[in-house]
Amino acid sequence: MAKIHELSTILSDQIAAGEVIERPASVVKELVENAIDAHSTQIDIRIKDAGLQMIQVTDNGEGIISDELPLAFKRHSTSKIATRNDLFKVKSLGFRGEALASIAAIADVTLTSATANEPTGSCVHIKGGKILNQQSVAVRQGTTVEVKDLFFNTPARLKYLRSYQTELSKIVDIVNRLAMGHTDIAFSLINDQNLMLKTTGRHNLSQTVANIYGISIAKKMLPISGADLDFKIDGLVSLPEVTRASRNYISLLINGRYIKNFQLNKALIAGYGSKLMIGRFPIAVINIQMDPLLVDANVHPTKQEVRLSKEDALGNLLTNIIRQKLATLNLIPDALRHQPVVKPQITSSPDINVDTQTQQLTIDEATSATDDVALAMQLHEDDQLPINDAITTTTATYHTASTSQPRFPQLRYLAQVHGTYLLAEAEDGLYLLDQHAAQERIKYEFYREEIGKVSNAQQNLLVPIIIDYANNDALILHERLPLLRDIGIYLEPFGQNSFILRTHPAWFPENNVEATVREMIDEILQKGKLTVAEFREKTAIMISCRTSIKANHHLEPQQAQALLDDLAKTANPFNCPHGRPTLVKFSNKDLEKMFKRIQDPHDTRDAKIGD
Ligand code: ZN
Ligand code: ZN
Repeated sequence: MAKIHELSTILSDQIAAGEVIERPASVVKELVENAIDAHSTQIDIRIKDAGLQMIQVTDNGEGIISDELPLAFKRHSTSKIATRNDLFKVKSLGFRGEALASIAAIADVTLTSATANEPTGSCVHIKGGKILNQQSVAVRQGTTVEVKDLFFNTPARLKYLRSYQTELSKIVDIVNRLAMGHTDIAFSLINDQNLMLKTTGRHNLSQTVANIYGISIAKKMLPISGADLDFKIDGLVSLPEVTRASRNYISLLINGRYIKNFQLNKALIAGYGSKLMIGRFPIAVINIQMDPLLVDANVHPTKQEVRLSKEDALGNLLTNIIRQKLATLNLIPDALRHQPVVKPQITSSPDINVDTQTQQLTIDEATSATDDVALAMQLHEDDQLPINDAITTTTATYHTASTSQPRFPQLRYLAQVHGTYLLAEAEDGLYLLDQHAAQERIKYEFYREEIGKVSNAQQNLLVPIIIDYANNDALILHERLPLLRDIGIYLEPFGQNSFILRTHPAWFPENNVEATVREMIDEILQKGKLTVAEFREKTAIMISCRTSIKANHHLEPQQAQALLDDLAKTANPFNCPHGRPTLVKFSNKDLEKMFKRIQDPHDTRDAKIGD
């Protein structure tokens, strides 16, 4: 009987393991989180063959008492949780307790550990869930877990693994994120002979970000912080010019745990508003501290998707912190220094392709990031990297405005270039504006305001507009008529597949009514879910673009000057609602340098200009 019982335990461990341990990166994550829980200040990770041959995690934390060593491998016998109720209170990362047992069920595991209070440490060897050996050993305080032959008894799982590069990039990705969440711990990650990451553990997020994403990115990150009664937020967010095509470069950490949460991603992006190019995403590291009672991390075995109470309040706080931070910046790109440094990072996409090209790309990124580690350490040994200093000493593009500085220059119109750009001067330099982008910004702020008012002022149409749609579209539209009504468009059903519009809001652009309504309806049909706020926003952008002067359009000097003056009055004069810059600047100093009126032998840009 006892034997049968043991077998069934092993079997159920294997099944449970499959849920927690999907790939080598899951092992790394679980082991590193355990090391973090043990209050380590140093965690060294060595892997061979992207973790398939070997994964070793060594920490200098509290260690495990010899007697408790075998217990550490039993499911649900974790020291961290006593009752189900405790599940909601624990702050520790590896609280599920299944991690070690799961790993031991599907691999060959050797765990060596020593505490401060015992004369010697001990070592236990487990394979496929069975303890093979336990003995005393002399080791320093801390724990080393070595995992070999992962998935040796679950070959089906092995088949699901992707390429070497994909598995490696997933490991690097999770270690990167944990390192950003724990800047007080010195991490190192070595794959075969290659150093993939090294952090100092000196509690410096800028430096950690430099180690991971490269120095040029770290210099374009803004520190943010804020709090309310429930939440404390701090971290780094990229300047609006530094963007990526995916959300993968956003790292959210709650109480030190890397999590995924769609709503919080959205809140973060909302903080950028129209400063961000459409379809682009910032780089960000957001550390959130909150009462663990407000988190239910026990949703998914890998714990990355969490449910939050007060999610909306947290989202609003995050949006406001970022919005306020960006509002303090003067975001006029410097014409000459506007060379966005786009450096690839080691962050894997969940649906990364495994064609040869992608594999090559992944490995290249990994190697180049390693080079930056040394460089980053060399350049910033001192602990803080204040963003202002960083900006004045580098090739950064934006300047933070001090309170004494006017936010936006007083521009005097000079000339129009190719019917598309406006040349203007101010005390501090020469400015070039994109007339469409500038007017779009002005109109956008006007329409956003008007649409937001939901005034009932309607204008009658001389000839009602009848709009027909295909069956499926008409069905969706019927359902979403209230959304249109919320911004003042009273579309009435007119037969099964047709609708009629007899009036339009007074703020509507007069000669564009039908096209505008059609575009709004397209938006509703395309997007399954659209909040009123999003709909208003999209409509304002669409109308402002549609009604703004295009390129190749002559402006009279008074019209051009009026445009400059109106732009200065907007809330964000720096970008069009799509995120494009409205203007660029050549500072007086730049002009002087260009014409060699002043010489700076150390300025490398001189060489470039001469090219
Ligand atoms: Zn436009
Ligand atoms: Zn635009």
